[in-house]
Order: sequence, then C-alpha cells, then structure tokens
Amino acid sequence: MSTAQRVSPQEAWETFIAGNERFITGISEHPNQNVERRSELVNSQSPDVALFGCSDSRLAAEIIFDCGLGDLFIARNMGHVVAESITASMEYAVHYLGSALIVVLAHDSCGAVAAAIEQSNRTPSSVTDSVANTLAPVLPSVQQYWLRERRETPYVDASSVDADAIGRIHLRATVDQLLRSSQTLRDAVDRGDVAVVGCQYSLVEGRAVPYISVGKLEINLAESDSAAA
Ligand SMILES: [Zn+2]
Repeated sequence: MSTAQRVSPQEAWETFIAGNERFITGISEHPNQNVERRSELVNSQSPDVALFGCSDSRLAAEIIFDCGLGDLFIARNMGHVVAESITASMEYAVHYLGSALIVVLAHDSCGAVAAAIEQSNRTPSSVTDSVANTLAPVLPSVQQYWLRERRETPYVDASSVDADAIGRIHLRATVDQLLRSSQTLRDAVDRGDVAVVGCQYSLVEGRAVPYISVGKLEINLAESDSAAA
C-alpha cells in the first residue's frame, strides 16, 4: 500500500534548504536529535526528503542540512551512480514513506569524478573491477565535456579540464538516469507529488547549489555551464 505525500515538493524543498542555510551561516539548530525524537520514531518513519548523494565523508547529510532522526531517507555511493538498489531506495521513500522531494547531491572536488577523468586518459591506472564498473557510468560525462571542442586526441588530459564542470554534467546525467530507471518515480513527478532537485555542494562554503530540477517546484537554479553541452 502506498503512502500519500504529507507536504508539497515546494514545502519539502524550503524546509530542506533552510537547514543548509543555517549550516552555512553557523547557526545550526541540530533538530530532532534528542531522546524524545528517538522514541517517537520507534514504530514508524515519515521523511519528507529522500537524498541520493556521493559517499564522500564531507557530505554528512544530517549535518550539512541541519536536520535529524527521521528527516532524510538516504542512499549514497561513490560518485552518486544510479544502480538498482538506488532506484529501489528512492522508490521506497516516495511510494511507501511519502517523501515529496528527491535531492541528488553531487559536490565539487569529487574523488569519483577525478578518478573517472583519470580513467579516461591515455594511461589509466589500474583499479579494482568493482571500482571500474561503478565509475563506468561517469565516463560518458567526461567524454561529453572533452568532445565539446575539436580535440587532437580522444584521451583526456586531466590538467586541462574543469573537473567540477564535469561533475555538473554527471549530476544532470544522474537525475536523468534515476528518472529513466523508474516508472514509479516518473509517475509521482507527473502527478506533482514529487520533485527531483540536483545540487552540487561546495565544500568550502558548505552550500548545496541547485542546478537542475524536475517536477512542480519554484526554485532559482544556478547558471549551469553544462546546460549547453
Ligand atoms: Zn564525491
């Protein structure tokens, strides 16, 4: 049995991003982290936001969005690469827990993006099979960036690329792939029950900057260099 969304995507986004603003300015409230909240949640959870982000240790979601227990349903892996378990997790949050917003969280200086760039050069270093397979979906974003202009070689020169711009291409691709992977999510977005926002987090500033949104949501998106790609 599915669960109806409790808030609109708009309300979910505004609550969510207000937490990031508190974190940025150093006035975090650390809500929903006490014994009462823990007890309250023993028998059920109703997170309004589902988050799919990079595993990077600096992206500790409840800290950077200043929220607590029961607030975020989270799935993370290196380089935020869509996989069946990720799609299932987001579907579960939307369909069974009533989440109204999916946030896809990329970040600058991403090690997975850097590794994908490195794997695209003339002499890539050897990585384990599982790392190679996980990075594989990031490689087309590297190529897309590299082939924007006429190049003398198909091999990527890491020193002449903007890794964060490649990260934004991969962010857009991730949002697209997530939605393509799930009829349930597409239907929920179509009905206006759910919106998806892709953000790139700035490590130095602590800010999650939205670059792409899909669904019914009023939001100011940052100018994206990857949009024209
Ligand atoms: Zn990362």
